[in-house]
Amino acid sequence: MVSQLIFAIILAFAIGLFSLNVRKIIRNIRLGRAVDRSDRPVERWKKMVMVAFGQQKMFKRPFPALLHLLVYLGFVIINIEMLEIIIDGLFGSHRVLAILGGFYNLLLAAFEWLALGVLVGCLVFLIRRNIGRLKRFSGKEMTFWPKTDANLILITEILLMAAFLIMNATDHKLQLSGMSHYITAGSFPVSSWLMPLLPEASGRLMWIERSAWWFHIVGVLTFLNYLPYSKHLHIILVFPNTYFSKLTPKGQFTNMDSVTNEVKAMLDPSFAPPSADGLPARFGAKDIPDLTWKNLMEAYTCTECGRCTSVCPANITGKLLSPRKIMMDTRDRMEEIGKNIDQNGEFKDDGKFLLDSYISREEIWACTTCNACVEACPVNIDPLNIILELRRYAVMEESQAPASINAMFGNIENNGAPWKYAQSDRDNWKNS
Ligand code: SF4
Ligand code: SF4
Repeated sequence: MVSQLIFAIILAFAIGLFSLNVRKIIRNIRLGRAVDRSDRPVERWKKMVMVAFGQQKMFKRPFPALLHLLVYLGFVIINIEMLEIIIDGLFGSHRVLAILGGFYNLLLAAFEWLALGVLVGCLVFLIRRNIGRLKRFSGKEMTFWPKTDANLILITEILLMAAFLIMNATDHKLQLSGMSHYITAGSFPVSSWLMPLLPEASGRLMWIERSAWWFHIVGVLTFLNYLPYSKHLHIILVFPNTYFSKLTPKGQFTNMDSVTNEVKAMLDPSFAPPSADGLPARFGAKDIPDLTWKNLMEAYTCTECGRCTSVCPANITGKLLSPRKIMMDTRDRMEEIGKNIDQNGEFKDDGKFLLDSYISREEIWACTTCNACVEACPVNIDPLNIILELRRYAVMEESQAPASINAMFGNIENNGAPWKYAQSDRDNWKNS
């Protein structure tokens, strides 16, 4: 009875804390501007199934993709076992789902093989990350915390799977010894390898079984509450993030309605621009509220895998720009604003902005707008859109752009072309 009570308190506390943090994440995402991504629902579902469930874009690199699929499927499916653990924990039963009979044996055997898969996958990932020294896992944005976060996730998954297998192995041995509480149920193709290592005394076996059971459940609940602080949040956000993907062609940039209307009015005096109510407070983006909620959701979904940076021509040629850093900076600034609101009840000016305080002008102007980062991202994130909004702010609000671009703007304004030839010479270069 006492252990059931302790279990109920831990469970309620973990779920309550997680809900609180989820509410904060939703509040932070809502700091962004509105953007309509409700069109073409069938296409959106398809995209989510292919990219999030099917991990379609991961398979451009088959080896890590296979391992990731193993870890992802294993970790998600094994958590079905949580249902049984929660019922047993609350009601003091043992292996309550054994009522499923032969199907339960099948399920448990599948869980054990998947647990082994997760263990192996995480071990390989750990070695790859820390000994293999893959270039895309380094970079100036990969400071102490992002590296530690990645290792913590892998180590936790290894420990949770090990606890699951030890729990099953001791349970199996207790079942074979005929202990009354340990009903004969389940099939243990992997954990039975551990049985020779276990003690014979029932008391010690029960102690190990209970410790592994508690470690597993408390570990999973702790891990759940670690997600909001970690890049691992992508295991949840990848689904809405891919559903709300941009469906227009990659090279098609977003126009600002207010600017389009102004140009139309200049070209056609009879054009009546719609009401000015929808005018943006600012052209482009200087800080978090100027970006859209989708940009902000993407910042929370970034897995920090570095695939974008590894294909970025600016980064490859030694420029300061890293699209992964753009996403990490956006998340950091968004969280800073969120904490500011939590402390003050509303946002209190802190003298900082996403542009300049986090992302420098040198970074944004190094971008070639090639879209390689967008193409490479396994979870459909668009770092380029944030870069373009920051540039738009610099140009339209501050008239600040590199000299070469300013010269081009001047030529377009005066000559109707990016070159400095006179309008009268237009036919010469146009037909050459
Ligand atoms: S669009 Fe910009 S940030 Fe993205 S890969 Fe190309 S140069 Fe790099
Ligand atoms: S933006 Fe995409 S590709 Fe780049 S680090 Fe994040 S998840 Fe990986």
